[in-house]
Amino acid sequence: MIDQHRTETVTGSAHFAFTDRWGGVSAAPYGELNLGGAVGDDPAAVGANRERAARDLGIDPALVVWMNQVHGRDVAVVDGPWGADAEIPAVDAVVTARRGLPLAVLTADCTPVLLADPVAGVVGAAHAGRPGLVAGVVPAAVEAMIALGAHPSRITAHTGPAVCGRCYEVPEAMRAEVAEAVPGTWSETSWGTPAVDVTGGVHAQLAVLGVTDRHRSPVCTRESGDHFSYRRDRTTGRLAGYVWLDG
Ligand SMILES: [Zn+2]
Repeated sequence: MIDQHRTETVTGSAHFAFTDRWGGVSAAPYGELNLGGAVGDDPAAVGANRERAARDLGIDPALVVWMNQVHGRDVAVVDGPWGADAEIPAVDAVVTARRGLPLAVLTADCTPVLLADPVAGVVGAAHAGRPGLVAGVVPAAVEAMIALGAHPSRITAHTGPAVCGRCYEVPEAMRAEVAEAVPGTWSETSWGTPAVDVTGGVHAQLAVLGVTDRHRSPVCTRESGDHFSYRRDRTTGRLAGYVWLDG
């Protein structure tokens, strides 16, 4: 089928893409385009989906750098894909100075963050759920990009589909704790209870770092039937965000 929901933005030589759940081969509850390898889906289906998503974007599926995401703040600096037998490190951000190397982040409610400085030739991808946001994974990713020659004023940032601040309910004490650690996160659900706006926090952190060219997907995963949502469905697939520079 034609993928009508995938979004890809191109800024100069930089590509930012986010998948939705359609256009793959996975069966329920992972249907259709589950790209996560650790959620209980058939590995053959995940492989076929990753191949399909990459071909659709015009990138080589064998080059895509995936992470073993653990809600921390560690960053891996890479210059090529992991080897076939390599153990993928437990990190929540990955950066590279190699043009043409696509970096990928998996999510289902957490905020996927894609970053690129096309002038320096440096890109980064980060996985920011509430714990990673508070731990500072996004600033850590930007710092790692700066170490590779990027400058915040040249970085374009895209945050993808994620659970919104009107849907992410948390206990009152947790809202206060997160708001104290990260500005821009204090929120309330549409039904009037305490909530956290993780994407709002990501943008606040990026603003402090001097990243002004920021774009926020309007899609809330919990409210969209076209996207995987852990909060809504618990057992479900994972969306992917991809960032790369023309090689
Ligand atoms: Zn929402």
